[in-house]
Amino acid sequence: MSVDPKQFFYIHALENAVEHENVPKAGAVLGLLMGKHPEFRSRAKEMSAILNEVLQEIDGMTPAERREKLAEMAPELLDQKKEKKTKERGLRDLKNVGKDGVVMRFAPNPSGPLHIGHARAAYLNDYYVRKYGGRYVLRIEDTDARRVQPENYGMILEDIEWLGLKISEIVYQSDRLDIYYTYCRKLLESGNAYVCTCDSAAFKLLKDSKKECPCRNQTVEENISLWEKMLDGTFPEGAATVRVKTGVDLPDPAMRDFSLFRIVETPHLRTDARVFPMMNFSVVIDDHLLGITHVIRGKDHIANTKRQGFIYDYLGWSQPEFYHYGRMSVGGLVLSTTAMKEGIRAGKYTGWDDIHLGTLRAIARRGIQADAVRNSMIDIGVGQTDIAFSWENLFAENKQVIDPVANRYFFVPNPVKCEIKKAPAVTAKAFLHPNDEARGYRMLDFKGTLYAPEEELADVPMVRFKDLFNVRIGDTNGERVFEYAGTSLEEARKEKSPIIQWLPESEKVKCILLTPEGKQEGLCEILVRDELDKVVQFERVGFARIDSVSDSGIVAYFAHR
Ligand code: GLU
Repeated sequence: MSVDPKQFFYIHALENAVEHENVPKAGAVLGLLMGKHPEFRSRAKEMSAILNEVLQEIDGMTPAERREKLAEMAPELLDQKKEKKTKERGLRDLKNVGKDGVVMRFAPNPSGPLHIGHARAAYLNDYYVRKYGGRYVLRIEDTDARRVQPENYGMILEDIEWLGLKISEIVYQSDRLDIYYTYCRKLLESGNAYVCTCDSAAFKLLKDSKKECPCRNQTVEENISLWEKMLDGTFPEGAATVRVKTGVDLPDPAMRDFSLFRIVETPHLRTDARVFPMMNFSVVIDDHLLGITHVIRGKDHIANTKRQGFIYDYLGWSQPEFYHYGRMSVGGLVLSTTAMKEGIRAGKYTGWDDIHLGTLRAIARRGIQADAVRNSMIDIGVGQTDIAFSWENLFAENKQVIDPVANRYFFVPNPVKCEIKKAPAVTAKAFLHPNDEARGYRMLDFKGTLYAPEEELADVPMVRFKDLFNVRIGDTNGERVFEYAGTSLEEARKEKSPIIQWLPESEKVKCILLTPEGKQEGLCEILVRDELDKVVQFERVGFARIDSVSDSGIVAYFAHR
């Protein structure tokens, strides 16, 4: 690939200037070019003139401007320090890892699609499977018919695919009811569980005063017969439950003889059964039988881990290694499944991928990449301390992923048509990517008039239209007048003129940019039509994913700056 010497000088001199806070010596930069690209040796004089121009320009910039320019032209150079951190990114070792590695699981309930909170458990467990080898089980915990909607199964699988987890097998708890029944019977037979037919309020009164309920002293035969009645449909919903004998005088009331099974009459999508295990029972049976070695889950499960300990002990099984990470609050977007569902039903949100929601499909629609979510979650780690999820960090991670691939375009919000007096007709040549010339250019034909963003024109005597020329803004009898003011970048810099985006008359495509705060209407370049489903950078506005392209225009979802 042939190099553009001006761009080469720019990048290397800027890198030096950013690192050492002064402009480098011309000889050093020139030597670098000649060393790397000997084909320029015969054009030393010409190269030297170009370099001097570049150095002069960099000299006139503030340190912040230099950083900004370098970030635009070669973000990877600016991010090298961060890059090192990325490479070192890692989590603490797990205890008791065997020679075959680990068996981990991700166990969502299909009550809706996955959201950013789920991504933490999903990626932390995934991390260790990748680190140690082994298996990663996706377990769909669909034992509550009231919360399972048909579309949820498909959505979870799509979300898993998007996350890119290293899943080795998928199990559905609704396929495993007979297994749960078998182990329930074992507990009843060993006298460690009983069928309780007390009214739940009556049981609670007894439990809170550390008293046994009458069912606790039934014989094994009586319990088995009642269990069979539960299964054959004799009891209606709420009339009977199976309880494990943990002790009615335990200090924590939540640990006392808690429930293992219940009757649910709401039809289930995948089974005709009416008797379903409670989470603490099915989780123990599955974790053990599926050979789960390590479980990473939230602190809100600490009490469950304790409850599950009783079941492990009665069945004579040893527990996996448990790690409980701290709570993660996620501000800004809606996460509660109930609130999302109601909002969608009421028409407040357009669907599960509405821009206001914290579902993975909503953030994907905004151009956030799965790898950025993964990196954020690994950075947050498995610590027990409660933290607030930082969207800013996620956006910074995402920028690292998309910046090198996103093509650059002009989007002009609130466009105003400007006739530029005395301006020559020219074709501006703008990089598709400032750091990768091989990707090509956008050619923008200026012929007398252009569209500019209204808010950039107020109260400035001069603007520079990026990659085009400078324009003076005057006033004649209360009317704004635009006049061509040459092409000198130095002059624009000296006057601190804003360098702004623009569009020629021939390039106007309607574009709506949606953000969680509202929508911006404007115009963009024709080439954006070829970027459907891709993330682009609207120069000076930010990164956005092109969501739809039609005859009436383009709809883009704003990601971040
Ligand atoms: N399905 C449970 C949940 O989503 C996970 C159970 C567990 O991690 O043990 O909360």
